[in-house]
Amino acid sequence: MPSAAAPRPGTEEIPVEIVSDEEMAFIDAALAAAAAAAAAAGARPLLTSAARRTAPPLSCAAYSAAGSAGGDIEDSPLPRRSFLARFRERRALAVTDITATEWCEKQMEFVLEHGKPERTEAMKAGSDRHAQLEQEVVERVDVDIRSVEELWAVKFMNFIIGTNQLMFEGITRELPVIGVVEGSWMIGIIDEIRMPMDSISSQPILVDTKTRVRPTIPSEAQKRNGRLQLMCYKHLWDTLIAKKFPAEHFFSYFDLDPNYLLSDDIKQYISPLGFNAKTFEDVLNYFNVTCQALPLSQELLLLRYELQADHSLLEEYQFTYDSRWFKDQIQEALNFWQGSREPKFATEEERWKCSFCKFASKCPMIASTSRC
Ligand code: SF4
Repeated sequence: MPSAAAPRPGTEEIPVEIVSDEEMAFIDAALAAAAAAAAAAGARPLLTSAARRTAPPLSCAAYSAAGSAGGDIEDSPLPRRSFLARFRERRALAVTDITATEWCEKQMEFVLEHGKPERTEAMKAGSDRHAQLEQEVVERVDVDIRSVEELWAVKFMNFIIGTNQLMFEGITRELPVIGVVEGSWMIGIIDEIRMPMDSISSQPILVDTKTRVRPTIPSEAQKRNGRLQLMCYKHLWDTLIAKKFPAEHFFSYFDLDPNYLLSDDIKQYISPLGFNAKTFEDVLNYFNVTCQALPLSQELLLLRYELQADHSLLEEYQFTYDSRWFKDQIQEALNFWQGSREPKFATEEERWKCSFCKFASKCPMIASTSRC
């Protein structure tokens, strides 16, 4: 067994699910689409398993000069391709890529190189709870998807339908968002968005619910990671509303055909909302119109911690968006993804994370600690 500091109270679970089911589905281009008839009621269609199989990966990435930085090019080994280029080429980074990187860069590297460790019972219970919360407000139906363009069209439709639900019913869940953050395409799925019930604010509040195995208060590291996640969502949401979506960049980056003709199935899902979309670009135009009519989100963000056993509330934690801190965190994560430097280990104060790390036996930091 590798040696590592004993876990501190409140850290009994592995707090970071490397990439959630929901966001992996997004990354793998397998997000749900919207059922037209039930669209106004918030129904969103799922992709068929066939569509999941045929859908190519999304997003793209850059090459880095890692390994050659600061050295003589002729003397240096061949430049190593960045993690972004190797693992997210023509795909977007997921918000959970960023939060997992913040948790421990070395662990993120292990996941990329060796694959995700098996999901624990606690993780499965957390996913089940999120599915349950989603079902409370969102109805999902199957829809056939023939191409990547239709896959993306469905994502944008899900956004349109979800925000429609938010404005009319005051709440939506599992809302996909996409944008460019510090020069990199990023995608995420917002757990929950609520419109305030009072008349003091007309801006929605973004909410994320975490489940815990034991009735303990989360550690500061867990809260920090949750803060980063919600700030990513706020940045993506507010950017969609405040700025015109960079459609041309989007089409070229993901190699998509804006003139792609949508199938009748896809078209009928959006028509009840009054949108007569024929092409993929039409959907993007309606998406833009929708974004322009939405309010920016509140500066206050809300993290909720629930006990898995009975869903009782352990803590509600409100905090304020901090743009400077957020930017620094994103740049730090991107330095890792772009290969600007070697991955960092968990800090000494947070070495307890290693007790829950499935890669501890491979980790050089653990090996060096054992020799001391
Ligand atoms: S053992 Fe610790 S430092 Fe090494 S990858 Fe795991 S969490 Fe990171």
